[in-house]
Amino acid sequence: MDAKPQRAILLVRISDDKAEDARGVGRQEDDGRALADRLGWGIAEVIVENDTSAFKRRKVQLPDGRVELRTVRPGFRSTLDKLATGQCDGLLAYDLDRTARDPRDLEDLIDVVESKSPHMPVQSVTGSLRLANDADITMARVMVAVANKASRDASRRVTRKHVELAAEGKWNGGGFRGYGYTRRGMEIIPEEAKVIRDIAAWVLGDPNHSLNWIKNELNRQSIPAATGKPWNSRSVRSVVTKPSVVGLRAHKGEVVAPAQWQPILDRDTWEQVCATLAGRTRNVDLTLKRWLSGILYCPLSGHRLTSGSAPNGKYRYWCATPQGGCGKIAVKGAEAEAEIERQVLGLLTKPRVLQRLHTLSTSEVTDDARRELAEDEAQLKELSRMWARKELSMGEFREARKIIERRVKENKALMTASTPRALRTLLAGDVRAGWERLTPADKREVVLTLVPEGYVVQPHDRSRGSKFQPERMKPVGKAG
Ligand SMILES: [Zn+2]
Repeated sequence: MDAKPQRAILLVRISDDKAEDARGVGRQEDDGRALADRLGWGIAEVIVENDTSAFKRRKVQLPDGRVELRTVRPGFRSTLDKLATGQCDGLLAYDLDRTARDPRDLEDLIDVVESKSPHMPVQSVTGSLRLANDADITMARVMVAVANKASRDASRRVTRKHVELAAEGKWNGGGFRGYGYTRRGMEIIPEEAKVIRDIAAWVLGDPNHSLNWIKNELNRQSIPAATGKPWNSRSVRSVVTKPSVVGLRAHKGEVVAPAQWQPILDRDTWEQVCATLAGRTRNVDLTLKRWLSGILYCPLSGHRLTSGSAPNGKYRYWCATPQGGCGKIAVKGAEAEAEIERQVLGLLTKPRVLQRLHTLSTSEVTDDARRELAEDEAQLKELSRMWARKELSMGEFREARKIIERRVKENKALMTASTPRALRTLLAGDVRAGWERLTPADKREVVLTLVPEGYVVQPHDRSRGSKFQPERMKPVGKAG
């Protein structure tokens, strides 16, 4: 038996399970103290942690001084601090699940435990938290990744074979042939791959290219779908959003491993297509045609200009009286758009502006998110390997993946929140060509990122004729 800590921390945690409440904490403490007595440990402090929302994350300082994004757990952090500084000399908890649900929390605890030689003693009432040696630590990592050990379903044996193949990234051989690939899944069919790329380009190229429009276009060209039948909206969506087209293996609709076959679309394009189609079903602003809507202001009344038809039948932006505007400011639509486009493209060639955008897209938070994303993707791969080696059951694997994928989703949201995807795409290539390809909604997003306050449209100087006067349009704040 190892050393018996006399200044141990007893860590108890209020569960987010509604069946348990603060009373449960009393019981955890009783059980913990009873265990301490049996082991001959002395408890210096009981730390009670309220269960914090799993999504409430902020920066925390780690025992080694690094700062990272974590779920806020003051009780757990203070436990780590006290163990790291030597103020306390052992940890007693109820179980593993109440101690660490986030694999990074566990890693932080392991860091502290391993910083002492021999390892800092750790015990738990249920025996599930053990970090005494490498085998214990490996097991704890798996268990935390898995989190819910209860969900082993009866269909596990039946799915075992598919699961193994999936984890190895092989085609499972069953069901329909995947569009774009030969039956065995290993060879790309060039004509079908071209259709998939065309669909992706249509989806990303123009919000007016609905799934319905694409379906009609394919049928008009007499291109058969995988089954040889005509296309419908669902088959169009499916061939371009399925993970296999980027070389990812899916099992029961969820990505489980990198596949062993060649991708047809690159990962970025695929993610954009998926996001765009998902956005369309939520009916967001992708139908927007007049991208200066909400960006131009009237200097006389302060109203936003809205788009509408001018008396000559062409479209214009104006301070619309039906919407409470003064009606005195109007500007030709196409000319106004050309002028803002010119100004925006001008901004995008200025080193100072580019520098600011670069800073924006690589700020600390996105850096953290990017690194976590990479770690999580590596962890997903490792999980698949463990699964293939039968070290995890189907249920464990699915649960573990769910946890990691939730984090991946959060981090992706964090990363895209700081710089619009459209702008990042724009900066990655030839700016002018990229701009031409943007949807109206994306153009609007880019303008609002560069010039968040928008533009004012000064009154037209009639003494100089009716020709469009580009100098009328100035960024808000810089208007003379
Ligand atoms: Zn006005």
